Order: sequence, then structure tokens, then C-alpha cells
Amino acid sequence: MSQEHQCRKCGTCCRKGGPALHRQDAPLLTSGVLQLQDLCTLRSGELVRDASNDAVVPLPEEIVKIAAPFGSRPDDWTCRFLTEDSRCFIHETSPAECRALFCDDPRGLIEMHDEDRLDRRAILELLRAPAWLTDSVEAHESRCNYAALIELASHLEKHEAARRALVEVVEYDRAFREIMMEKGGVRPEMLDFLFGRPLMHTVIMFGIDARTNADGSITLVQTTRATISRPEQEAPRLILPSDFQKAPSGKIII
Ligand code: SF4
Repeated sequence: MSQEHQCRKCGTCCRKGGPALHRQDAPLLTSGVLQLQDLCTLRSGELVRDASNDAVVPLPEEIVKIAAPFGSRPDDWTCRFLTEDSRCFIHETSPAECRALFCDDPRGLIEMHDEDRLDRRAILELLRAPAWLTDSVEAHESRCNYAALIELASHLEKHEAARRALVEVVEYDRAFREIMMEKGGVRPEMLDFLFGRPLMHTVIMFGIDARTNADGSITLVQTTRATISRPEQEAPRLILPSDFQKAPSGKIII
């Protein structure tokens, strides 16, 4: 390693989000250094910030990252292995992206970014998870995929049917997670890996705040719409999770 690009161990990159996993990180999973509850999936079509172009783009393919500490605020993406004194708790075995990235030179990360990523299916196969778990991931994806949500979101302003359909998908996602915990014995810490982040949190990327009413129903409130800078299917090169903020107030749309 050249002196020029020595890691300063400041923790700055770790606070911007944990690394995405690649094939060379497989031993960390099989040895138990990383467990499913440590992971979070950004699903295909989810809007993310491409830091190399400072643009909001839909992800062409899912990525699995190390998650923030369980219970963090939705806009906090600090890697869960960053200690209070800015050390890496798994330093000796940190994932490949962590070893490739330097604050002053992201080229190593950019070069490997799209290479040999591990997705949910690959990780579940690697860990020999039961088939019903993989089936549940696919069942959830077929009903709650972001491609369908983007299509609905583009018609929200003029079509009540689209607003109702969006609420149904958000409710389905919420119910699916509850059933997986109640009937499948899935621990809540594993849900963000298996099914991505809850749609109740992520629809903010479409300029919508989903709020739960006292009776359990969902109200959609229009906030501010994200500008997608580059909707074509070009892979972002340096991904940061989106940081859309809720507007302090907004118009109830359903
Ligand atoms: S695994 Fe360690 S080096 Fe990598 S982002 Fe997390 S705290 Fe930082």
C-alpha cells in the first residue's frame, strides 16, 4: 500500500454506509463473521445516490450491504461494525470493498464495484438456507418490486386507482413481514436482508410519506418528489443509500 493512500482510520466512509458484498466475501459469511442479521438488501429499482456522479438513480440490480445498527434512523447508514472511537470491529476480516476504498482515492472501489456481487439468492445458497426462505424472497419480490412501484408512483397525482394500488402494496409488504415473523419464525433483524427495507420507509423516495393511522390503516402524504437524474439502466459506480428527507408537512393524497 502506498503512503499516499494509507487509510486514515477516520471512519468517514464507514459512516456513509457499509460495504456491498462480493464473491470474495463469501468466507466471512460461511465462517459466521457476517450473519444475515448484519445485512441489508437494496433491491433492484430502488433509488440510490450515485456518489460518482452525484445523481439519484434506480439500481439496475440488487446489492447486499452491511447494515446500520438495528433500530437506527432510516437515514442513518453508518456501518454497524464502526465502534464509537471510529475503529472497525472486524478490521482483520473487513469486506473487500472496505479494503479497496480510500477517502482520497475511490478508484479501487469503483473498479471492483460491479464485479462478482453477492445477491440474496447467492447468499442463501451459500448458507444452505431452506428453500422456503428463498421462495419467500421471490414471492415478496413479485408483489412488491420497485419496477411496479415506480410505475404506480408516476400516476399518483392524477389517478386515485394508482394511489389505492400503492397503499395495497405497502400494506402487503407490512403484512408479509409480520407473517414471516409469526409463522416462519424469522427474526425481525433478518427482514431487511430478506425483503429489503420496509416500503413504509422507502416510499419517501417517490415523494410520499406513508403514515400508520390509529386503526392500522395507511395514509399517504405527498412530500417532495425526488429527481431521478439518470433513469436508464447504466450501473451506478459508487453507491450511497438515498437520503431523502420527509417534508415537515404535506398534502394527504389518500
Ligand atoms: S466493515 Fe469496518 S471498515 Fe468496513 S465500513 Fe464497516 S466499520 Fe468500516
